[in-house]
Amino acid sequence: MFDYLIVGAGFAGSVLAERLASQLGKKILIIDTRSHIGGNAYDCYNEAGILIHRYGPHIFHTNSREVFEYLSQFTQWRSYEHRVLASVDGQLVPIPINLDTINRLYGLHLTSFQLEEFFASVAEPKERILTSEDVVVNKVGRELYEKFFRNYTRKQWDIDPSELDRSVTARVPTRTNRDNRYFTDTYQAMPLHGYTRMFENMLSHPNIKIMLQTDYREIVGTIPYREMIYTGPIDLFFDYRYGKLPYRSLEFQHETVNMPVHQPVAVVNYPNEHLYTRVTEFKYLTGQEHPKTSIVYEYPRAEGDPYYPVPRSENTALYKKYQALADATSGVHFVGRLATYKYYNMDQVVAQALTIYKKLRETENRRSPE
Ligand code: FAD
Ligand code: UDP
Repeated sequence: MFDYLIVGAGFAGSVLAERLASQLGKKILIIDTRSHIGGNAYDCYNEAGILIHRYGPHIFHTNSREVFEYLSQFTQWRSYEHRVLASVDGQLVPIPINLDTINRLYGLHLTSFQLEEFFASVAEPKERILTSEDVVVNKVGRELYEKFFRNYTRKQWDIDPSELDRSVTARVPTRTNRDNRYFTDTYQAMPLHGYTRMFENMLSHPNIKIMLQTDYREIVGTIPYREMIYTGPIDLFFDYRYGKLPYRSLEFQHETVNMPVHQPVAVVNYPNEHLYTRVTEFKYLTGQEHPKTSIVYEYPRAEGDPYYPVPRSENTALYKKYQALADATSGVHFVGRLATYKYYNMDQVVAQALTIYKKLRETENRRSPE
């Protein structure tokens, strides 16, 4: 008899498996349809011996000391600050848009103060910032919006930014200084030996059994367990009773090229050219030295593995209906990016899982006080 059946061995499932087993001595079965642990953060060495992220670039960053310290029990870190260039008007310029972006794009020599004035002169102030278009146009005006955001967003989401919640493009700030880091979080680092090694360390507890290449629906009636933690898509759990929640997918085209360096930074975004959105060169993320280099192209897709919940009001309304079903389903806890239909980064999923763990611990303690 397992105490918990955990569906999904990504961050959400693995954090809960680790906490419940190591802190409360619970017996866990963690199950995943894929042939590996780690969920979308899975990394592995390819045929050339280069460490790659199978499901696209995963850069760890957080402001949460609790999350960073928690994960530090399972990995050492390599300091890494992420930098991205965007291919615009035949140049590679920094994104997030900053002082250098504007000076290079327009051949200017503005100071930060002058850039603020420039943004103020081109911005289209909005009374209410509701959409992903509003966020950008309100700050930097329509021309820069069209150069950097409109087409990238249409490619990635197959929706015009004017129909997408503001939270999507709000992920990318605008700066008037020369800071060219993609993230400004307090903790920015990559697991020294990769994500998969970190997940192995989390799950290597005698109370945790792992079952791969198995859909939970294949075994749910045959393996006894007390409670379930579910981290797959919430609409799938309820057999799409209210219809499918939209997810955006990607096709990853991995390539290894026979030279040590392919591009000047880890990621180059292509808002206006090509069918792919961005190209990532993994050696920048991992620090690996190798005479060859591996890259990945991301092609947005409607069909395929569900990678991105699509933040817009009608989808949130549909999710709320599923959430109400989830709340009424006793003995099952819904956690993670797919089960709570939230465009969460890794650290947010870890934080959410740690919060659920604390709630479960309270319930367990009430059940059998020490
Ligand atoms: P997942 O990792 O998706 O794990 C869920 C698991 O459940 C999957 O392994 C799935 O196979 C399994 N599952 C689903 N249904 C079933 C079933 N029926 N039976 C059994 N198993 C099932 N975050 C960052 O912080 N930084 C980044 O740079 C970053 N880059 C990203 C790039 C891309 C292309 C994508 C798609 C995401 C990125 N993220 C990034 C987000 C990050 O991937 C997620 O926040 C995190 O992986 C979510 O963890 P999770 O456990 O909720 O879900
Ligand atoms: N975005 C854009 N141009 C860019 C970078 C981002 O239009 O050069 C928009 C796009 O809609 C994207 C969103 O901002 O989906 C969030 O970008 P982020 O890099 O955070 O995406 P993720 O890494 O989660 O795919």
